[in-house]
Amino acid sequence: MSARILVVDDVPANVKLLEARLSAEYFDVMTASNGTEALALASRAECDIILLDVMMPDMDGFEVCRRLKSNPATHHIPVVMVTALDSPSDRNRGLEAGADDFLTKPVSDVVLIARVRSLTRLKMMTDELRMRAVTSLEIGMQAPERSAVADTGKGGRILLVDDRQSSYERLATILAAEHTIDVEPNPTEALFHAAEGNYDLLIVSLDLNNFDGLRLCSQARSLERTRHVPILAIADPENSTRLLRGLEIGVNDYLLRPIDKTELLARARTQIRRRRYTDHLRDNVQNSIEMAITDALTGLHNRRYMESHLATLAEQASTRGKPLALMILDIDYFKSINDNYGHDAGDDVLREFAVRVRKSIRGIDLACRYGGEEFVIVMPETDLHVAGMVAERLRRSIAGEPFSVHKGTKRIEVTISIGLTTLEQKGEAVADVLKRADTALYRAKHDGRNRVVSQAA
Ligand code: GH3
Ligand code: MG
Ligand code: MG
Repeated sequence: MSARILVVDDVPANVKLLEARLSAEYFDVMTASNGTEALALASRAECDIILLDVMMPDMDGFEVCRRLKSNPATHHIPVVMVTALDSPSDRNRGLEAGADDFLTKPVSDVVLIARVRSLTRLKMMTDELRMRAVTSLEIGMQAPERSAVADTGKGGRILLVDDRQSSYERLATILAAEHTIDVEPNPTEALFHAAEGNYDLLIVSLDLNNFDGLRLCSQARSLERTRHVPILAIADPENSTRLLRGLEIGVNDYLLRPIDKTELLARARTQIRRRRYTDHLRDNVQNSIEMAITDALTGLHNRRYMESHLATLAEQASTRGKPLALMILDIDYFKSINDNYGHDAGDDVLREFAVRVRKSIRGIDLACRYGGEEFVIVMPETDLHVAGMVAERLRRSIAGEPFSVHKGTKRIEVTISIGLTTLEQKGEAVADVLKRADTALYRAKHDGRNRVVSQAA
């Protein structure tokens, strides 16, 4: 998918120039000639990156950027300020307004395309997370946008990898005003240090002695524990071609020496804020996935998950010619446990029951709460004979040891009945398998409960 870039400039010739260069690289380009128009387009979520001119009549680029970054609907869109003035104070005004990067006019093609590519990749990743996190909103989890807009980006944990003492001492002192900072002067230790430290930001010098800082960046990108930690590279101006390479391999931002104090702080805050936002999104996605497939009382899978997953397991078993066993377990006279000891005691029994079930099955077996006090266990690559032994062991693990209820003050006897069957080989419908297990369960109840009944296919 090609990214859509919004180019904002009041001078038509500038717009045309950027449009031509970006289109040549197959980016999809939209344009706006003033801030109001740009804000309207952006709030309809129609662009992935904004290239924003600083000097415009009416509303200048700083103000447009500030408004974009304080609006929950647009704060995540990367903004690159395109400025004729390359003075540190302008850059700092832009960074304070929340800009993600700068390009200085006249814009170099190579730098333009490298920056836009790298920001596109970041934006696509955030979008995917945002999309999945929508589900969590629907089930009542807190929207991360509000806290992201309010986040100052301070109080982060930073690892600085730099082997020049005069350099790291100065940088550490600056950063310590707003963050917790660790210094790693030994590049060969840096990756381990980064993986263990739970950092919000890595700052890596690319001018290390006898060590390729870019290699460190690319290793950090591929390691599971550091792949989501943003990287801010620092380089001498003569190393700027290596910086471009860095952006390609996933460095998020860079600074050239000599390092301006305000700019360092601003760029660190931007990266940390972004990191917290994406972390928050990722957590929401994770939670909503877990909530959607888990039964809250027992922590076992829920019925919906089991039904969709069972279809997959059945198909696998059929194509590989392997057996698949399925059992339905139902607690005996559960209603009377509720009636005699209360609903809370009933819940205690269900929870403890789930614990015992988990202990009796293998990792690849699928256990779910099918209904109130009914459970289903699916066992891949298990024939009726072996499944019968597992079921019997389970039955004994329930009947053999009374259940504690009311915080351990009372112990009650519990038994279960189990109906067991296997999948027929030639692609039998899972509904039929469940039905057969249910018939077997009915017989177990009918024959006196606290027993296993197997029903061959
Ligand atoms: P049988 O031996 O024939 O299975 O009898 P039973 O009493 O176990 O079966 P029945 O289906 O008549 O009753 C099941 C009871 O389980 C009724 C319902 O109130 C109770 N129940 C369902 N879900 C929960 C729950 O989450 N917590 C508690 N405490 N009780 C539940
Ligand atoms: Mg029951
Ligand atoms: Mg029942």
